[in-house]
Amino acid sequence: MTTRQWVYRFDELDSAERYVGGSWEDVRALFGGKGANLAEMVRIGVPVPPGFIVTTEACNVYLEAGGIFPEGMWDQVLQALHTIEADTGKTFGDPRQPLLVSCRSGAKFSMPGMMDTVLNIGLNDLTAQAMVNLTGDERFVFDAYRRLIQMFGSVVMGVADEVFEHVLTAARQKAGVTVESDLQAADWKEVTDRFKNVFRNHTQIDFPQDPLEQLRMATEAVFKSWNGKRAVDYRNAANIPHDLGTAVNIVTMVFGNMGNDCATGVAMTRNGSTGEPGLEGDFLINAQGEDVVAGIRMTEDITTMAASFPEAYEELCSIANKLELHYRDMQDMEFTIEKGKLWMLQTRDGKRTARAAVRIAVDMTREGLISMDQAVLRISPEQIDFFLHPQFDPAAIADARSHGRMVARGLNVSPGAAGGLVVFEADLAETWTKRDGKKVILVRPETKPDDVHGLLAAQGVLTSRGGRTSHAALVARQFGKPAVVGVAALEIDLSKREMRCGETLIREGDVISIDGNTGEVFLGELPTMLPDIKDPWLIDLLSWADEYRTLGVWANADYPEDARRARSYGAQGIGLCRSEHMFFETDRLPLFQKMIMARLPVDQREALDALLPFQRDDFAGLFREMDGMPVIIRLIDPPLHEFLPDLVELMGQLSDLKLRIRDAGTLPDIDALLEEIRIKERLREQAEKLKEQNPMLGMRGVRLGIHIPDLTKMQVRAIFEAACLVTREGVTVLPKIMIPLVGHANELKVQREALEAEAQAVMAEQNLKIDYKFGTMIELPRAALTADQIAEYAEFFSYGTNDLTQTTYGISRDDAESGFLIEYVGKGILPENPFATLDEDGVVQLMKIGVDKGRSVRPDLECGICGEHGGDPRSIALCHSLGLTYVSCSPFRVPIARLAAAHAALRKK
Ligand code: PEP
Ligand code: MG
Repeated sequence: MTTRQWVYRFDELDSAERYVGGSWEDVRALFGGKGANLAEMVRIGVPVPPGFIVTTEACNVYLEAGGIFPEGMWDQVLQALHTIEADTGKTFGDPRQPLLVSCRSGAKFSMPGMMDTVLNIGLNDLTAQAMVNLTGDERFVFDAYRRLIQMFGSVVMGVADEVFEHVLTAARQKAGVTVESDLQAADWKEVTDRFKNVFRNHTQIDFPQDPLEQLRMATEAVFKSWNGKRAVDYRNAANIPHDLGTAVNIVTMVFGNMGNDCATGVAMTRNGSTGEPGLEGDFLINAQGEDVVAGIRMTEDITTMAASFPEAYEELCSIANKLELHYRDMQDMEFTIEKGKLWMLQTRDGKRTARAAVRIAVDMTREGLISMDQAVLRISPEQIDFFLHPQFDPAAIADARSHGRMVARGLNVSPGAAGGLVVFEADLAETWTKRDGKKVILVRPETKPDDVHGLLAAQGVLTSRGGRTSHAALVARQFGKPAVVGVAALEIDLSKREMRCGETLIREGDVISIDGNTGEVFLGELPTMLPDIKDPWLIDLLSWADEYRTLGVWANADYPEDARRARSYGAQGIGLCRSEHMFFETDRLPLFQKMIMARLPVDQREALDALLPFQRDDFAGLFREMDGMPVIIRLIDPPLHEFLPDLVELMGQLSDLKLRIRDAGTLPDIDALLEEIRIKERLREQAEKLKEQNPMLGMRGVRLGIHIPDLTKMQVRAIFEAACLVTREGVTVLPKIMIPLVGHANELKVQREALEAEAQAVMAEQNLKIDYKFGTMIELPRAALTADQIAEYAEFFSYGTNDLTQTTYGISRDDAESGFLIEYVGKGILPENPFATLDEDGVVQLMKIGVDKGRSVRPDLECGICGEHGGDPRSIALCHSLGLTYVSCSPFRVPIARLAAAHAALRKK
């Protein structure tokens, strides 16, 4: 029986490929990323110090067996070691020409710094002396030897780092120097001896002098570090499976610290922050790799290497090109120059900012390295998000986290970073912003439509309740305001104007920062950076994405400014104008309330007549912005009580007013108070009357239009009068009237007939023909199931997936996300939050029935989505599969949706 191959030399990539069946992914899984790239570099002729890989399979077998090497593995290690000896002319443990090796971890997915490494293996008292004889550099040799004892002690034997640090501090003090690099040969010799003592005292054994014993123990330590706490935590956080194992890379040591003809450095083939072409990096003459990374010594810019090591620099530049050409991606390389000879120690795809990622993808396409579709696929929708909102400086975030200033975490419902004074009330938010020029964060248990002015004035919004489709989330996304909602740990006491977050007390006026990307809340203000949507590379990339996508991308916008922004971001229409939002504005709300409170039809008519010009102006503004593009106006939807003050608040105000009467001094004062009481009493009565047990299932949507026909008629009149007005101005207008929350075809039939009559009447009055359509929202399961009947009366469908998810699951869109829903997701009962990503097995199935049934009656039926899912990349992919016509999302998500739609189309190819 032949034993399995557990060990591969770097030049044995071919046989590994044969073993795993050829795919690069599988080679990476077997060799780990670092080993696979080292072997690949060897194959394409890049100078890599001789070495070999002990596979991840060996690691897994070792761990499963409870710490026993797989059969044959160690013999294979010894064999590979002999090959290196032959290649280098050096021998492991040889007191004349000693070979030294490093033993490094390397998993399939990069886990920076999470697992272990031991350098300089092979040094002992004898070989150290041999190295001194060979190099004539005692200082270098004993520095290397003590590093081995230190790393071996901490990594393999678990001796605490501080113990070694104490010795180093004492040595520096004794020598009267502040940095280690100023220690001399005698100092390092003494440190080496002390380290050996420390080692013995803490491990009860002598530092092993047998190099093979050192290698064996180091290999075991690297295997075991796969299950170290750091590594396990990292994998949990980064969603990396726990059964992959780590490979061990055993590589000939090359030294960058053997004199001034030696150096070491790191370089990226392009700038990782901006994406600009050209090498970027740091290097140090006469130093070891870790000195560059540790930041103890001031590094030099890589370009200065052209002067100090011209040949090596030229070679490095040509290797950089070769590696980019090979990997077709920006590379992050580590190298060492030993006695003038350049060695590459590592290459991997370089980490980069979103901005750099976009520029690199576009530049590489132009350079012929990748194709246009590859460039589009290389950028994730989340990276596009970066261009649209201010972001916190990543260094500031790390600093705040490490100093305990991250005090809570909630739902990251609207991206971007914001900092400012805590304000608990919308009016005050507006006052502090407008009057005092302060930056504020509006903090509320939850927001309501009449908080919008405060939300608009604020930098961002933070709520302790609510979910992804809560009012705060919707409005924040719509206006591009960062928002964190549903922060259950936040105890807000509005009466005391303070909030508690565990031990931390935050008062109104204190400064906080919120990160809408991560849902984190920080104490104090973190510095922000403003990315730029006008980035020319981004514009190109998105225009390439447009060539691949088949889904239209429209926007949810209520106001002309939103429409303008949406259009400038590439929206092809308005998929949802929530017409009721206009009623909340200060000059309209009293009129709308008058309409609600009217006892006589004539009073109601009067209020509606007064509202008409406002609505007409609103719609005309939208039509002008969207000249030539469709605009879907959704008729009033929410239950009417939302337009009245809160009942509890009203009761409080009333008892307050009644108390004030007692203290009123003059008759006119009393009269004024009585009048106020009368008005508030009326409001209270009406609010009482409109109160419903389940308002979301009550008098809303199409039911309102049927119940108060003049209300939706007024809206339709406003739409058509506005359409006629702007048509005369030369604008091409394509209005679409959308009727919400239809459950039965008859509702739509009745409402449409009434409204279409009004539309015809306006067109006749104006003597103009408008190209219009009537359609409906599919927001109730029954609507989806009877879509063929509904399609008789609808020229288009728009899936209102906020309500459709609510009604399919029977889960409240307003409360669940700050309650049991998150618990469900946390416990794995639900795979994810269905209000964030479409529920494929339930809601999407209903959508499919709706599309199929609808199009069976009306083949050209336009089907879109306007729920919050329309801006979610994974939901967009599902919409693509369903064959929807378009997705509609907040203006700020339009660029993301364009890219996500292209990804969906390309991945289906
Ligand atoms: C929906 O329900 O998905 C929708 C877009 O309508 P609203 O959020 O206004 O209820
Ligand atoms: Mg809805």
